[in-house]
Amino acid sequence: MILAANFKANHTRESTASYLEALNLFLDAYQTSCDVRVFPAISSLFRDDLYSHIKLGAQNFYPAVSGAYTGEIGAQQLGEFGVKSVLIGHSERRVTLKETQEFIAKKFAFAKENGWEIIYCIGEPKDVRDNGFEAVMEYLWSEFDGVDIDYDRFCVAYEPIWAIGTGVSAKALDIAQVLDALKSRLHSTALLYGGSVNAENLSSIISLTSCGGALIGNAALDAANFCKLIQIAQNVQK
Ligand code: PEP
Repeated sequence: MILAANFKANHTRESTASYLEALNLFLDAYQTSCDVRVFPAISSLFRDDLYSHIKLGAQNFYPAVSGAYTGEIGAQQLGEFGVKSVLIGHSERRVTLKETQEFIAKKFAFAKENGWEIIYCIGEPKDVRDNGFEAVMEYLWSEFDGVDIDYDRFCVAYEPIWAIGTGVSAKALDIAQVLDALKSRLHSTALLYGGSVNAENLSSIISLTSCGGALIGNAALDAANFCKLIQIAQNVQK
C-alpha cells in the first residue's frame, strides 16, 4: 500500500524539514507496512537517504539531464538529491501548465530510461464524468498515449480532476469501477486513488480490491494529519 503526500507549491524548506522530521519520528515508532512517499516543492527537496522511512520524490522535472531549460530541473539536479521517484501527468500540470500528452509521454520515457519510479496521474474533467463511465474510460485510456504501460516501475494514480482539492471525493463505487477497468489492461501495476482523500473516506477507498493506495494533497499537508492517515491505512491492511 502506497501513501503519497503531494505538497504542490506549499510549505517552505524550513517547514518541510520539520514535517519530514516529525513524520520520520512517527514512522520510527509506528510499524507500518505502508510505503510512505512525500513530494515536496523542488526548493524543499532533501537527500532521499536523509529520512529512513520516507521516500522523497519530485513533483516535476524536465526530460533532460541538464541544459538550456530556464526554470526547469533536470536529471543532474535530481541526482544530487538521490531522488528516483517522480510524479508525471498531474492534472495541474496538464491543465494549468498546459503539458501535452506528447510531452508527458516524453517525460515518462525519460524517467523510464533513468529507472525512476513513476506515479503516473490520470483523471477526467467533470464534463466527461457527466457523460458516463464509457466516456470516462475512453478519456483515461487516451492519457496513456505514448506511454509504455509495461514499464515495471510505475503505478497509476486515478485522480478525477473535479475531485482534486474540492473536498468532494469520487464515490467508492465509481472509483472501484474505474480501477477495475484499468486493472484489466494494466495487470500488475499498482493503482492509487487521489482526489479529496481524508480521514473520513480513506478506509472505504483503500479497502477497494483494486486500490493500492492514495495520493493525497490537502489532507497530507499537516504532518500529524498524514500520520493519522497512515494509521488508518495500516488498520485497513490488518
Ligand atoms: C493531488 O493533488 O494529487 C490531490 C489529490 O489533492 P487533494 O487531496 O487536495 O484533492
